[in-house]
Amino acid sequence: MAIARVALDCPVNSLFDYRSTGQPPQVGQLVVVPFGRRRQVGLVLEVAEQSEIADARLRSIESILPVEPLPDHMLALIRFSSEYYQCPIGQAAFVALPAAMRRVRYVGPEPQWQYVLTTAGRELSADQFRARATVKRRLLEALHSARALRRSDLPAVSASAAKLAESWVQAGWVEKHAEAIPKAKADFTANAQHELTDEQRAAVDSISAGLGSYSPWLLEGITGSGKTEVYFRLIEQAAGRGLQTLLMVPEINLTPQLEERFRDRFPALRLVGLHSNLAEGERCANWLSARAGEAQVVIGTRLSIFTPMPQLGLIIVDEEQDGSFKQQDGLRYSARDLAIFYARQRQVPVVLGSATPSLETYHNARNGRFGHLHLSRRPAANRASIKLVDIRGMAKAQSLCDQVLEAICSRQARGEQSLVFLNRRGFAPALVCGACGWNAGCSRCSACLVWHLRDAVLRCHYCGHQERLPRICPSCGNQDLKGVGQGTQRLEQSLGEHFPDARILRIDRDSTRRKHAWQTMQDDIRRERVDILVGTQMLAKGHDFPKLTLVVVVNPDGALFSADFRAGEKLFQQLMQVAGRAGRADLPGDVLVQTQFPEHPLYQALVRQDYRSYAEELLDERKRAGFPPFVYQALLRAESQSESALMDFLGYAASHAGMGQAAVTLYDPVPATISKIAGHHRGHLLAQSASRAELQRFLSEWRPLLVERKAARVRWSLDVDPIEL
Ligand code: ADP
Ligand code: ZN
Ligand code: ZN
Repeated sequence: MAIARVALDCPVNSLFDYRSTGQPPQVGQLVVVPFGRRRQVGLVLEVAEQSEIADARLRSIESILPVEPLPDHMLALIRFSSEYYQCPIGQAAFVALPAAMRRVRYVGPEPQWQYVLTTAGRELSADQFRARATVKRRLLEALHSARALRRSDLPAVSASAAKLAESWVQAGWVEKHAEAIPKAKADFTANAQHELTDEQRAAVDSISAGLGSYSPWLLEGITGSGKTEVYFRLIEQAAGRGLQTLLMVPEINLTPQLEERFRDRFPALRLVGLHSNLAEGERCANWLSARAGEAQVVIGTRLSIFTPMPQLGLIIVDEEQDGSFKQQDGLRYSARDLAIFYARQRQVPVVLGSATPSLETYHNARNGRFGHLHLSRRPAANRASIKLVDIRGMAKAQSLCDQVLEAICSRQARGEQSLVFLNRRGFAPALVCGACGWNAGCSRCSACLVWHLRDAVLRCHYCGHQERLPRICPSCGNQDLKGVGQGTQRLEQSLGEHFPDARILRIDRDSTRRKHAWQTMQDDIRRERVDILVGTQMLAKGHDFPKLTLVVVVNPDGALFSADFRAGEKLFQQLMQVAGRAGRADLPGDVLVQTQFPEHPLYQALVRQDYRSYAEELLDERKRAGFPPFVYQALLRAESQSESALMDFLGYAASHAGMGQAAVTLYDPVPATISKIAGHHRGHLLAQSASRAELQRFLSEWRPLLVERKAARVRWSLDVDPIEL
């Protein structure tokens, strides 16, 4: 009797045995099994002869999903993720699968039907239809001239053409075929290539020479330096050899423009997208197309790392420093780090592209573990110039200074656009009473409420709680409550006062909440219906607005004094990214940074656009202080409605850290930076080691002890290589 050992989506880190009654199960297959009182889809990870479960208690597989088994290399990636990120195997497995395949009632995606005239159909002529039967006439004409019509082409013929075509199938005039998707072809055309610069050529040659074996690369180059062009050439080379490419990009960069640019260049290459915004059926179909080796290029967000691609030849991670490659719940994986593991396993090159690499990656390039390629110029545009505007002498540090106002004014006069960047939405980040010092805090979180002017509410940016704006101070009755600090709404308002004729558009999470709002706004910007953009980091990335020639950054100084040791790195990365928005086309761009600390080394390096020297400085600091990338970290995160239960659990965790773990340092339990969210107290415990292997060994012993504790009212998780505390 064959026993299938199955991973199920539940928090238990073990496999479940099921008897197989029909055909013998295969490793990698998806099966439907009874689990408790429900049925679930499970992934067969082992097949055995016998089970330790008593026969009478052993339940049977109900059915096998009609999907090819997952290949071994994908199973290995799932196993590795589960072990490395300390996540139960079943949960790891199910992160990897499209949602449609997690359903017990799985139906494969509908084939892309093609309609072809039968012999009888070809003998029809339009005259047989009444003159006013225009849909019939047009469908017949379309079928005649196109030989075969895809179902997706039919709406263009007429809204009712799909229904009509089906009735013609019944009538015997038309045949319906499931579309044979073209196999990956070695020959395809590439349109309008640029002449590569020497640096680009060197990058393409070095990386493509390594196709067929593992080699990791850092491709460093500012926005506009031609990294995407390098990716395109590499993809072309890979496809020419029948190899598939996985191109991963940050969530926010996955714009229709990138896909469009790609399709313009390679009209015949088969490209599919994989990200969480796709409808379930489409994501499943795209996944299957990649799985079958038909899609030559997969472009996706972090989850696309779990796409089985039989002919995988190349992995590219664009903007590798971006935080969105790290999943922040469940399987807390870093898609960038998994890409490196997976590339080695599949023996393919992996390219990490960035203007401002993460210090982890930069460190690896510097010590020779990664090849280091550099694009130092912008072939199609000038580099924007970055200037600091010293606001130390200003009375009101929050407002825009004269130099900035003049610069915006001159853009408006020339019909160019300005972007004013402030990473804080709302009107004012705090509401305070000038008389007694009261300030509006969230009753459920340890955070200030943010004043939102439009809706006249105070809103918590952590739990979403909102309340009406109080008219008087609830503590002393004073009527003069003041907003302190500056949010995008207030900035928008004051820009409106300075530039009454300007068309101002605010872009943040509040203004883009409605579906398609952001898309519409981007169109407005491109069509030059906007003079001044005000926005948060949503605007920092990826978008190419040809008329945008000025970027103003309003007082980013807070990050210089943050408790997070990564704050400086992140700030530099973000500022370089916004700076990249200025002057992409033939118009030169300017960036003005308003600051109270113009002498700070970060700003000094920024003005020179010299990330490397700043990165070197940060690395020195990290080395001295014993921070990553010189040590490895894991964070035990816990939360509970009861503060004492939380501290109890963390105390237990600290004292049960296994003895003789000299190689691992365990810090004291501490409250999280935001120590309470939505009524849940939050705390954590940091474990750190100079050896990744030692830390891993420690975690694999520690986790079972934490599970054993069965701490009733505490939710906890382990975050390996955390990127924020
Ligand atoms: P990145 O990905 O680094 O931001 P892109 O590859 O998008 O840079 O290139 C920026 C702009 O420069 C694009 O408009 C692109 O068409 C153009 N470009 C890239 N390489 C070349 C080249 N070798 N010669 C001329 N223009 C180029
Ligand atoms: Zn008061
Ligand atoms: Zn709150």
